Amino acid sequence: MENGVYQNLDSGQGIEAPANITIKGTLSLLMANTNGDDKKRVISLGIGDPTAYSCFRTTAAAQDAVVDTLRSYKFNGYSPTVGLPQTRKAIAKYLSSDLPYELSSDDVYVTAGCTQAIEMVLSILARPGANVLLPRPGFPIYGLCATFRNLEIRYYDLLPDNGWEVNLNAVEALADHKTIAVVIINPGNPCGNVYTRQHLEKIAETAKQLGIAVIADEVYGHLAFGDKPFVPMGVFGSVAPVFTLGSLSKRWLVPGWRLGWLVTNDPNGVYKNPKFVERIKKYCDICGGPATFIQAAVPLIIEQTKEAFFGKTINMLKQSAEICYKKIKEIPFISCPSNAEGSMALMVKLNLSLLKDISDDMDFCFKLAKEESVIILPGLAVGLKNWLRITFAAEPAALEEAFGRLKSFCDRYSKQQNGY
Ligand SMILES: *Cc1c(COP(=O)(O)O)cnc(C)c1O
Repeated sequence: MENGVYQNLDSGQGIEAPANITIKGTLSLLMANTNGDDKKRVISLGIGDPTAYSCFRTTAAAQDAVVDTLRSYKFNGYSPTVGLPQTRKAIAKYLSSDLPYELSSDDVYVTAGCTQAIEMVLSILARPGANVLLPRPGFPIYGLCATFRNLEIRYYDLLPDNGWEVNLNAVEALADHKTIAVVIINPGNPCGNVYTRQHLEKIAETAKQLGIAVIADEVYGHLAFGDKPFVPMGVFGSVAPVFTLGSLSKRWLVPGWRLGWLVTNDPNGVYKNPKFVERIKKYCDICGGPATFIQAAVPLIIEQTKEAFFGKTINMLKQSAEICYKKIKEIPFISCPSNAEGSMALMVKLNLSLLKDISDDMDFCFKLAKEESVIILPGLAVGLKNWLRITFAAEPAALEEAFGRLKSFCDRYSKQQNGY
């Protein structure tokens, strides 16, 4: 083979993956670090995949819908890359029921999970020199994707003592004429917060004043179990254009089905110019869209899922979040600014000054995995060093066991001799 042709690949120069830490990457390192202790089964409070626990099962109605569409022979072919018309229509109707205006099918693009919706929205908005405002702590796929698209990332902080609200002053200070959008995640991952209607309105007004769009990650839409109801950002779509991202993954407990959406909540038509719509469609052509039979099942899934199924999930998450909050209070080495009110995760702060031989959150999580077979995500992986992200979508017994091990781990590393 001639030398030089594959030079880039040989040297690896310029082709390495962006240096961002991913959640999956960090967790697999932690998993590999457990010592296979037979007496202690591995308990993961790391990844947000509730299907590991049998109490978090999807509804039979959703499974039946998929089986029926699969068996019909009607959905073995390609779908339009923007999504099947009936799927777009069903998603538009589903989301419109919480909005002061009606979405049309044309506002909906069907994607392979919310992950592809993230990748799609950043790709279609990206242009040379542009930047995007991301929350810290946040969801690392945004940073990873922005880096691949050469979008500059500017992080704004969420405020732990203010229910993890957006620091709007920081957003204003960070934005300039090259800013394309501000990303919010509500209900929040990793913080478990739910934003009030008033706060969402303020975010929209800030975006309007800055002339930017809001990208609203609502993959945990409706998974709110505290005092605040879930309000979709699209409610304020007439203040500033909103791109809403979502999927079946979390609310229907089927992350493996890879069915999500990118929706333009843009009643004033800021982004409705034909060139931009063409750009989205071209991008859909690149992506190809999710499996046709899963798409075809969506109208039935939405129509036939009973309120009781959603209610059961909410109750389980509420119960799990309460166990977490109670257990966290019993461990003086960690603290939580506020109880989770939504989603499946929360952030706790590590009090390193009380621990010996632990250098930081990474060190803490690696030692915990090795010694106690408990997997917890270091805060660094979501942008907040010396915090921990705990996923509580787990069976109560597993949570109690994990916190018990966490407590004895901390006691062992306590600077004070006899614990407390
Ligand atoms: C899980 C998650 C996603 C990805 O959703 P999929 O539908 O599984 O691709 C996106 N954003 C946040 C905040 C998430 O927690």
